[in-house]
Amino acid sequence: MAFTHLSAKLTQLAEQGLYRSRRVIDSPQGIRLHLDGSSVINFCSNDYLGLANHPAVVAAFKTAADAYGVGSGAAHLVCGHSTAHHALEEELAAFTGRERALLFSTGYMANIGVITTLVGRGDTVLEDRLNHASLLDGGLASNAAFKRYAHADTTHLALLLAAAAGNKLVVTDGVFSMDGDAAPLPELARTAKAHQAWLMVDDAHGLGVLGAHGGGLLEQFGLGQDDVQVLMGTLGKGFGTFGAFVAGSELLIETLIQTARTYIYTTALPPAVAEATRASLRLVQADTWRRDKLAALIRQFRSGAAQLGLQLMPSDSPIQPLIIGDSQQAVAYSQALLAAGFLVSAIRPPTVAQGTARLRVTLSAGHDETMVAGLLDALGAIRVAQG
Ligand code: PMP
Repeated sequence: MAFTHLSAKLTQLAEQGLYRSRRVIDSPQGIRLHLDGSSVINFCSNDYLGLANHPAVVAAFKTAADAYGVGSGAAHLVCGHSTAHHALEEELAAFTGRERALLFSTGYMANIGVITTLVGRGDTVLEDRLNHASLLDGGLASNAAFKRYAHADTTHLALLLAAAAGNKLVVTDGVFSMDGDAAPLPELARTAKAHQAWLMVDDAHGLGVLGAHGGGLLEQFGLGQDDVQVLMGTLGKGFGTFGAFVAGSELLIETLIQTARTYIYTTALPPAVAEATRASLRLVQADTWRRDKLAALIRQFRSGAAQLGLQLMPSDSPIQPLIIGDSQQAVAYSQALLAAGFLVSAIRPPTVAQGTARLRVTLSAGHDETMVAGLLDALGAIRVAQG
């Protein structure tokens, strides 16, 4: 019989505490979620600014659905590229200070498309070990020599670059999705430049959240197109909507339009999603209080957790993981928090390295001090032991 190994694989995952199950949410996205018959406070969403269900974003979506319908009808290069997409691209280019921006239907596809377009056989792609799966998959699919450097280690990167052949592309998360720390972008940019390499940054978790105007880690570090040739951002996190974009030079964007397979051969985002994102982009820039409030909640969580004796990662971002180690233990803590009314997901291998299962707490401008204090009390009550 074919494929009999599949059920053995599932049994093995369950035995190792690595089986994943989905929760059915029966309420709007937001800070208070309704699931399995009870109401919980959500500490695991990427909706960092609380925009996923903002009335202005929802209204823009509805108005655009009336104007454009739901489906985009085709890929961008066929007949799916609308004025809504076009306007959003121009606004994202201005927002990021780049010549052009290009929408992709998801971040996963953007990363695969960019990397496989920029490098191929005879070239070299160099990635941080802790990069998001989509970046690693892009590197693997590219047919370029694929090198991983130790996390945030520019000395290791320089050694690998010195031995690299062909066109060289250095690729990093901006804010790392599972640890919450920031890549050393100025050093990475210097190192890449010294070896005539291009630098690509996926700032999915920094955009909207970091920088005075929400321009992310690049705004925080003051880095331009000359330092970071390829900037990728997702729209499903800080922007609260869906989709992704790549920003950079005219040359980069035209090359992607002509040759990136995950751009060419897929249906364009619904135009209403683009219009909703235009509304959220305005809020991202105008509502500086959201970033200020989020930063204060992050400080509150970190100092409260430190008082409880919990070990934190070096993260100033809304991603505040508590490393537990053992996968089953991490799941048990997540379940105990759920019983106390807090939704915090347990992140396990292969998403993170073996022995580093964690509770990935994420904070949002939609939280308030009482909610964060409640989570800290619950963490104290379940006596989290870290491995
Ligand atoms: N890059 C990073 C760093 C991410 O965290 C994610 C989403 N988890 C993606 C890319 C993929 O984006 P999308 O969800 O739009 O496919």
